Amino acid sequence: MGSDNMVSTQSDKHLWLAEKILNEHPQCIRGLKFFTLECCRIYYYRVFRNGLIGPRLGIYRDRKDSLCEICMRLREDWEGSVVDECVVYISAFQIEEV
Ligand SMILES: [Zn+2]
Repeated sequence: MGSDNMVSTQSDKHLWLAEKILNEHPQCIRGLKFFTLECCRIYYYRVFRNGLIGPRLGIYRDRKDSLCEICMRLREDWEGSVVDECVVYISAFQIEEV
């Protein structure tokens, strides 16, 4: 069992996930909103510059976590089991070190 991607806290996990999502979605994403469910699954949405929530980009689940009933059935009332909400904004500029 590798531990390369192990993250200690929830916010570390969000940042790690944001980076991963940005690599997979190279278009200009301003921000991401993460909804963490009771089962640790994370639904993530695009956030626009004006703060509006865009379409869902995907769902993240740790391999070690099992699917709960809500996730297995892809029920629409998953919002009822949200335990954490977090928005990560991504800076448009990056400082390049020389
Ligand atoms: Zn679940």
